Amino acid sequence: MADKRDYYEVLGVSKSATDDEIKKAYRKLSKKYHPDINKAPDAEEKFKEISEAYEVLSDSQKRAAYDQYGFAGTDPNYGGGAGGFGGFGGFSGGGAGGFGFEDIFENFFGGGGGRTADPNAPRQGADLQYSIKLKFEEAIFGAEKELKYNREDTCATCHGSGAKPGTSPQVCSKCHGSGRINVERQTPLGRMVTQQVCDVCHGTGKEIKYPCPTCHGEGHVSQAHTVKVNVPAGVEDGQQMRLQGQGEAGSNGGPYGDLYVVFSVESSKTFEREGSEIYYELPLNFVQAALGDEIEVPTVHGNVKLKIPAGTQTGTNFRMRGKGAPKLRGGGMGDQHVVTKIVTPKNLNEGQKNAMRDFAKASGQHINEQDEGILGKMKDAFGKKKK
Ligand SMILES: [Zn+2]
Ligand SMILES: [Zn+2]
Repeated sequence: MADKRDYYEVLGVSKSATDDEIKKAYRKLSKKYHPDINKAPDAEEKFKEISEAYEVLSDSQKRAAYDQYGFAGTDPNYGGGAGGFGGFGGFSGGGAGGFGFEDIFENFFGGGGGRTADPNAPRQGADLQYSIKLKFEEAIFGAEKELKYNREDTCATCHGSGAKPGTSPQVCSKCHGSGRINVERQTPLGRMVTQQVCDVCHGTGKEIKYPCPTCHGEGHVSQAHTVKVNVPAGVEDGQQMRLQGQGEAGSNGGPYGDLYVVFSVESSKTFEREGSEIYYELPLNFVQAALGDEIEVPTVHGNVKLKIPAGTQTGTNFRMRGKGAPKLRGGGMGDQHVVTKIVTPKNLNEGQKNAMRDFAKASGQHINEQDEGILGKMKDAFGKKKK
């Protein structure tokens, strides 16, 4: 203990540092050296040193005593050789009546909903997220879906109080309802009193003597819950929708959290969709492409006739206005894009081949046909027999 470092030096702040600067410095350092994070052999020692410095400098009374008298002003054991700093109970068990590091730690790092300044303040329940599978068409035209899930619900037996019906939470016998208790310590300057959160009621000032049998005093229970989801027309894969109040129950009369529904949309064998635009690949044989045709084309709104002009090339894009998916927020309908693909015929019969040869001749072309060989001829023969 003889080479104890100055508390200001430990936290790396000046003697005139504000409470805020001290808090910030502590937060940064304790994160860095927390033994759960930092595995260096001296991390725990450093962390204790930081925590000790913070305990003193964050308390205006102790800080004043330290400024005036140094370590002797804060540590009853200083110089006495016992070596311990009063309230620190170590990291695993937490010493009895100590200023457990969890007290500070939870305040700063406790993940949302941890201990807050006022433990009786209403707090909103947690948000939940679930996904709903939609068929391709359901995403386009909207759907009504039911979603079943478990959530923490306000306990119906005690209506959230956690107390057995007919009883109510009592005033905490240890802190008499204040939520805080005074801890006395002997110092060379006399008795010093510090306040800390009551360990019986955890600061609520209330004690549940007869817990509700349904929720065991928690005030909420996990329950199956069903919600109707009106899927709006035009949603896309990965989009989410917020359903207010369908999350978990709040505490101290706080509101329910929200539910986020994420849409997972199946793909279609026929169509591709990009936002409100739909793409369809239309196979055409070369005769249709060359001479033109009128074809029934599938759309999500049903079959629609499409005129193919003579001389259509592969990859031509025909736009069918208003035959796509609805635009969200009332922007009307998108379009369907029909993209042509000219398919070269296979396995022509002799008559078809002759017609093609005539076509070539009429075009002034000479075709050097590849011999199909014996296999091809056999296939032809079998093909004819079947008919
Ligand atoms: Zn209950
Ligand atoms: Zn209490």
